[in-house]
Amino acid sequence: AHVLVCGGTGCTSSGSQRILERLKRELDKQGLTKEVSVVQTGCHGLCALGPIMVVYPEAVFYSMVKEDDIPEIVEEHLLKGRVVKRLVYDETLTDEGVKSLAETDFYKKQHRIALRNCGVINPENIDEYIGTNGYEALGRVLTEMTPDEVIQIILDSGLRGRGGAGFPTGLKWKFASSNRGEVQKYVCCNADEGDPGAFMDRSVLEGDPHVVLEAMAIAGYAIGADQGYIYVRAEYPIAVKRLEIAINQAREYGLLGKDIFGTGFNFDIDLRLGAGAFVCGEETALMVSIEGNRGEPRPRPPFPAVKGLFASPTILNNVETYANIPQIILNGAEWFASMGTEKSKGTKVFALGGKINNTGLVEIPMGTTLRTVVEEIGGGIPNGKKFKAAQTGGPSGGCIPAEHFDIPIDYDNLIEIGSMMGSGGLIVMDEDNCMVDIAKFFLEFTVDESCGKCTPCRVGTKRMYEILDKITKGQGTLEDLDRLEELAYYIKDNSLCGLGQTAPNPVLSTLRYFRDEYVAHVVDKH
Ligand code: SF4
Repeated sequence: AHVLVCGGTGCTSSGSQRILERLKRELDKQGLTKEVSVVQTGCHGLCALGPIMVVYPEAVFYSMVKEDDIPEIVEEHLLKGRVVKRLVYDETLTDEGVKSLAETDFYKKQHRIALRNCGVINPENIDEYIGTNGYEALGRVLTEMTPDEVIQIILDSGLRGRGGAGFPTGLKWKFASSNRGEVQKYVCCNADEGDPGAFMDRSVLEGDPHVVLEAMAIAGYAIGADQGYIYVRAEYPIAVKRLEIAINQAREYGLLGKDIFGTGFNFDIDLRLGAGAFVCGEETALMVSIEGNRGEPRPRPPFPAVKGLFASPTILNNVETYANIPQIILNGAEWFASMGTEKSKGTKVFALGGKINNTGLVEIPMGTTLRTVVEEIGGGIPNGKKFKAAQTGGPSGGCIPAEHFDIPIDYDNLIEIGSMMGSGGLIVMDEDNCMVDIAKFFLEFTVDESCGKCTPCRVGTKRMYEILDKITKGQGTLEDLDRLEELAYYIKDNSLCGLGQTAPNPVLSTLRYFRDEYVAHVVDKH
């Protein structure tokens, strides 16, 4: 038998480390250490059901396992072959027995590319990654393709940046590709996931760190860079530890460092830890921070592809974007472009949270409707309540109201209705949520996180917050609503970086779809 114990942050915080240790002790006690292999994996996606344990060969999915349940699982299942039904995830229980997780509502409409190894392999063992075709794409790129051919595949695939803005990845690489071998260049990875409610990059790093290293090496070959940096939040200790292990293992195997695959290509990666400033997820601020300075954005142009880290041409992609690259190389651009909508190809990972039954991580083809995500994959709203809206893109995004429940989710559709994809946080609100409070929550976050470099953002967001506060306390007027809106557009148009330019979005989109709630706050009290 083969037992997987989830070691993602969600399950770790609900006690999976203790489960793992207890399991090893019980196996030892029963003399089963040789017969049963135990593997700690990354996240399965169903974070609300942790701690999670999967027992093979039957693939029985045990959820909410407690330490005291372990002797029973070992005795009954591993020794006597009898499934402990009371601990099995009920969606997988049928009259005939236990069905696979892939057949459950949560999984069957998902398509896992970026998350394909999460919850499946041991992220601390490079052999397991290699066993799932890991580093094969890098080998193929270095031995069979020119750098321009690599860029062309990424261009043809239609992959767009998963960090939020949706810029075509291949184009970014192309802009940075001139003068290969003549100038120093860098490949950076943005792992400074700071949106409240977003945790997809963390899961990839915790569950499959090598995929990011492999993709960065491919990017290095494509643009002619020999050094990469991963800028990762220090608040992600498990991800940091697994990245360190992965980098060391890749170096030992000759997959990072000098003369990779004997081709003469050199590429290495170092980590840089972020200290918790949301603005450091903005690309120019991130690079300034790697350089060792205070993380403040700088004006663009020049764009990083021309003058980025240490004033050298640099590409920066986020974790999820990189996680798609090796699969695109192995399966071809057409395969990737066959999924999704006309202008948004492939899949997108979302972190489902808020008023939804299946809180967790999902990866869906672009173009899936919000209704499918909430009602089928997410298992609907708890306590029979009605769906009111979903916030995508965290503090930079906006809300999608019930009238757009059937909208196919892609970059352009979301922008059209005043929201944005963002990095992939998706927070569901039901009929009990006050949309003015939601807007205030996100604005408070951006007020706190504004770096203060430019006045529209530093002062403007604070003034907007004060007006909102006044409104929620029943002291606002209808004129305040107009002032709020006017200020919002001014901040959007005049802020220096993306943080300020998008900070008013939650207010503007709630004003657009739920103005009556703002008016009710104002009118009720007069
Ligand atoms: Fe700093 Fe805000 Fe200006 Fe960006 S928009 S530079 S976060 S003050």
